[in-house]
Amino acid sequence: MSRRRVQPWWRAAAVSALVAVVGCTLALGVGAVLRRNELAAGDAQMDRRSTAAATAVKIETHRYIDTLRNVAAAVGAQQDLTAADFAAITTPLRAMALAGATSVTLVVPAGNREVARVQQSWRDRGLTGLVLRPHGSGDHAFSVLGTGLNATSSTVGLDMMQAAAPAAALAEARRSRQIAVSDTYHLIIDRSLPPERRQNSFALAAPVYQGAEQSFLGWMLLGVRGQDFMGAMLTAVGPGLRDLTLEADDADGLLVTMASVHHPEAGSADLRRTVEIPVANSTWALRLSADRRTLPGADTGQPLTVAAGGLVVTLLLTSLIWVLVTGRQRARSRVHAATSKLAAEQTAASRQAGLLRAVLDSISDGVGVIGPDGNFLLHNPAARGLLGQEEDAVGGTDSWQQHFGLYRADGVTAFPVEEMPLVRALGGESVDHVEMVVRNNTHPDGRVLSVSARPVDTSGGLRGAVAVFHDITDRKRVETELRGFAGVVAHDLKAPLTLVSAYGELVTEALDDLAAGAGAPTLEQARKGTAKVLHGAARMQRLITELLDYTAARDATLRVERLSMRALVDDVVVTRTDAPDHQAVSRPDVFVGPLPDVYADPVLLRQVIDNLVGNAIKYTPPGQPPRIDITARTDEDGGVRVRIADRGIGIPDGEHAAVFDSFHRASNGTAHPGTGLGLAICRRIVERHGGHIDAGPNPGGGTIFAFTLPGSVAYGPEPVEAPVLDAVPAS
Ligand code: ADP
Repeated sequence: MSRRRVQPWWRAAAVSALVAVVGCTLALGVGAVLRRNELAAGDAQMDRRSTAAATAVKIETHRYIDTLRNVAAAVGAQQDLTAADFAAITTPLRAMALAGATSVTLVVPAGNREVARVQQSWRDRGLTGLVLRPHGSGDHAFSVLGTGLNATSSTVGLDMMQAAAPAAALAEARRSRQIAVSDTYHLIIDRSLPPERRQNSFALAAPVYQGAEQSFLGWMLLGVRGQDFMGAMLTAVGPGLRDLTLEADDADGLLVTMASVHHPEAGSADLRRTVEIPVANSTWALRLSADRRTLPGADTGQPLTVAAGGLVVTLLLTSLIWVLVTGRQRARSRVHAATSKLAAEQTAASRQAGLLRAVLDSISDGVGVIGPDGNFLLHNPAARGLLGQEEDAVGGTDSWQQHFGLYRADGVTAFPVEEMPLVRALGGESVDHVEMVVRNNTHPDGRVLSVSARPVDTSGGLRGAVAVFHDITDRKRVETELRGFAGVVAHDLKAPLTLVSAYGELVTEALDDLAAGAGAPTLEQARKGTAKVLHGAARMQRLITELLDYTAARDATLRVERLSMRALVDDVVVTRTDAPDHQAVSRPDVFVGPLPDVYADPVLLRQVIDNLVGNAIKYTPPGQPPRIDITARTDEDGGVRVRIADRGIGIPDGEHAAVFDSFHRASNGTAHPGTGLGLAICRRIVERHGGHIDAGPNPGGGTIFAFTLPGSVAYGPEPVEAPVLDAVPAS
């Protein structure tokens, strides 16, 4: 399954975008937080300033009220108030710089009918020129004594009831016995001024009670012009503020501006506050506005700087990451390309190595490579098997002879290290077909190897050596066998040939004598000579026949088919026992037990049984009838073991195995004719069928020969076509 690869460009873009988004978010977020803090700081500043301004207004107003309360108390304390007393009490007010205060006046009540009496009573107190000017026909309240403040003179004789605002304040003060503040109105004394100079004003009215009985005398009335009253103070408390407005109700209950300060240069009014200020029986409203930017800490520009800085840093960081990531991607793709190439080369190399290994593993010749230090770098399984040692030699080439058990071709002389093919090849020599015997625990009988070696460049110019080990054990055995074979054949043929030649000459001479008229003895001699010649020829013929059989037993193609062993044995027995040379007394007594059908080569198997039955008859003492038992036993694996037991002369102890070697004749059998090839033929045939043949003494005398045919028993009825079995190759 192939994993979908993310394009490096997209990955870099994704990482950079992520960093950009996070960076921008952080920068803007921090900027926003700082901005919020600034706004909060601005609000707090505005709150503080509003509170301070309101407090200042409140304090100033109370200063006026307290002053008027003191004056009212001082006036009430006079038993017979005169103009001089009044002036003495009120004149110090001028020094108090009560901004906006126009005059402080004593106002006394008078009913409509009491105007003349009241006027007279105050004239009696020394105010001789006093003229009271009643307004309307209701109750009146006349100013009788007055002191001008702030360079303003006071006017007496005015009826305060002519204006609703002061009239209401007087009534309230009298009712509550407390100082009352009037609604906003234009002072009566300002009515003569042009309208643009008239100010919204107010009056404070304090009730005056006289004597121990606290009889009501009238009111102390303090008129105050709004703008003058508050203008200076608002200017003092207002730095940083744009607009300050003091508002109060007028007589109609409408909120009107009593005083205001305006600083147009202070920017826009984006912060606004309204603070209510209780004044006596009324409540004023102080409205403030400011430009946030003028308040300290409220608009530092820091949030913008931080956000902009953050964005710039993010931009730089994003660029840096883009460069880094794409650079990393480029480096990675270069590494990937190099790795892919390397992997492809590695795959090709390992495929080559695998192929080489497979070839080396599959060939029967051993291959070994050594490095410059004489240690094996490589060897195939065949080399291991041929050298017969699982472990490598420790100690370099010097230890090889001991470790592997290496001998010269004679099998006894230790192989000199310096002559070993690999050692010579390590020295730069090419060596071919050096015979060497390996004998150790794995190969106790020794293996003959033909070794060829070449110098080879192992790695980095270092010289090593490679050797090929070819197992020639079988070839050498065949060669040895052939040599012995040739000797024996030469010897065995020479004897009958000499015999034939000698008797041939004898017969020739006898024939010459007969021709010359020799008598019967010479004829008899010629006849005997001819018989000997024929005997010699027969011996030679038998030897040649058996030599051919011996060769055929090894080389002939194995033709396996289903056959009845019983029929085959019966045929051999009949042929052998019906031979004309058997006298009646020595006719073989043969017992044949049950025999199975088998898969085998019928010609070769017949040869085995014929040889064994023939030997059993042949190697029986003269005059004694041969006794032969032929039986068979099958095993669970479908193999059969055939046993041929006789009561003959037996084989001397220690020679039971050797009789199967070619030309070997046991020491007690030489009186009987033979070549010593029969049992060797039997062994070859049995082994080519995958079986084994052996001989042993028959208890009570004689010999038991037994051979096996593994997995060859045929069960059930004979099929139409016999199965094809694997042929056992010739040894
Ligand atoms: P040959 O019979 O031609 O000598 P064989 O190979 O058949 O050769 O037998 C080898 C030797 O084994 C014989 O020479 C003989 O000494 C001995 N031998 C074979 N079969 C028997 C037997 N049944 N009883 C005694 N000795 C035997």
